[in-house]
Amino acid sequence: NYSCKLLVVGGGSGGCTIANKFARRLGKDAVIVVEPSKHHYYQPLWTLVGAGVKRVADTRRSARSVLPAAATWVVDRAACLHPERNKLVTEEGHEIEYEYVVVATGIDNDYDKIPGLKQALDDIHSGVSTIYSAEYCEKTWRDLQLFTGGDAIFTFPDTPIKCPGAPQKIAYMTDAYFEKKNIRSKANIHYNTFLPVIFGIKKYADELLKVAARKNISVNYRTLLTAVHGDRKEATFVVKDADGKNVSESTVPYDLLHVTPAMRTPEFLRTNTALVDKTGFLDVDKYSLQHKKYKNMYGIGDCTNTPNSKTAAAIAKQCYVLEQNLLKTMKQDTPSASYDGYGACPLVTSYNTCILAEFLYDGVVHETFPFDQVSAKESRLAYYLKRDMFPFIYWNAMLKGYYHGPEFVRTFAAPLARLAGKKD
Ligand code: FAD
Repeated sequence: NYSCKLLVVGGGSGGCTIANKFARRLGKDAVIVVEPSKHHYYQPLWTLVGAGVKRVADTRRSARSVLPAAATWVVDRAACLHPERNKLVTEEGHEIEYEYVVVATGIDNDYDKIPGLKQALDDIHSGVSTIYSAEYCEKTWRDLQLFTGGDAIFTFPDTPIKCPGAPQKIAYMTDAYFEKKNIRSKANIHYNTFLPVIFGIKKYADELLKVAARKNISVNYRTLLTAVHGDRKEATFVVKDADGKNVSESTVPYDLLHVTPAMRTPEFLRTNTALVDKTGFLDVDKYSLQHKKYKNMYGIGDCTNTPNSKTAAAIAKQCYVLEQNLLKTMKQDTPSASYDGYGACPLVTSYNTCILAEFLYDGVVHETFPFDQVSAKESRLAYYLKRDMFPFIYWNAMLKGYYHGPEFVRTFAAPLARLAGKKD
């Protein structure tokens, strides 16, 4: 059994970053991280794995190499969190007592919500894949290469997901790949989304609709995948009205099906009603990131109910706020740092272009760079930032707790823009 000053549950993007920050501050053995996986992945690159630009091995490092050496790593899964007793019990029965806890478990793919999906993903011949998994993102690239013509369908589910831009990014990359291979005219590309819009922020949605139109991708709204029949290469979709009622149902043939699965928080979290809201996400204050009920508990990343875009970019900003506020809490002081909802989504549109969307709570656009991006244009620079620069920053600065978002770039980018006569 263990006890510690700070327990971090989950050692992914958010948990690893916070563990590194506090292991430095609190010293040896003060921090315990509970993380079951021996590997740490840079998930944002899985989109480019699906498009054949990277391999999954390029996105993977050992968890040991990124978690702080000064912290204790318990290689296990949280099974029950008892916030009244400041105690966590793991699946293997370890009991960990803590003074403070940060919940950072991310969200899981809920394959079972769609009958037939898991079998189809596991069947190499089904033509069904997802970039939302280390296990299946290379299958997307295989399916793209095997495609010779017909219907390529891309889906977006009816739950919150991480990186809500990725389901359409892979559709754009597929179009670009088919163009390169000279088979685009033989393909019908469909983007079937449960949402009523292509993107939540109008400025970017307008530009993305132009991209989809130029690429001849048919965008179908309120359209939900409900079953996969991988053996006969068919998929069932339901079209809903604005009230969520079924309007129609159809089973259609596909030649390639890219699925964005439904997602949810891990079971130990979503079933603990003291910790979560009615949607099953950790119930924290959206500005301070402190749990609404338990003041010695904070949350970071995809598992919380803060209404921002679930991205690694958001975690870069959140980790600073959480650090400042948790330090205050540790001194019996009132937390005062505030998270503004920053999130970013580099929407790759081909093998060398990307629209870099950046925004705050309530869809307020908040861009860093004074060029291309100010009018949401497709840019080469944004593509190389996504492919090369962001992974570099992630491994070398963010996970170590030294990167708090691109705000510092804005301080010199804005005067440059003014000099160049551009408006913000
Ligand atoms: P994760 O990094 O997923 O970590 C959660 C950790 O908790 C995992 O290590 C897991 O093993 C652990 N865990 C789970 N259950 C338990 C348990 N019971 N006990 C203990 N530990 C547990 N973000 C961007 O900023 N830009 C992008 O372009 C972008 N593109 C993306 C494309 C794809 C295809 C995907 C999948 C993601 C993308 N993201 C992007 C999103 C980004 O990767 C996530 O938002 C981010 O990694 C979330 O960090 P997290 O710490 O909340 O969760």
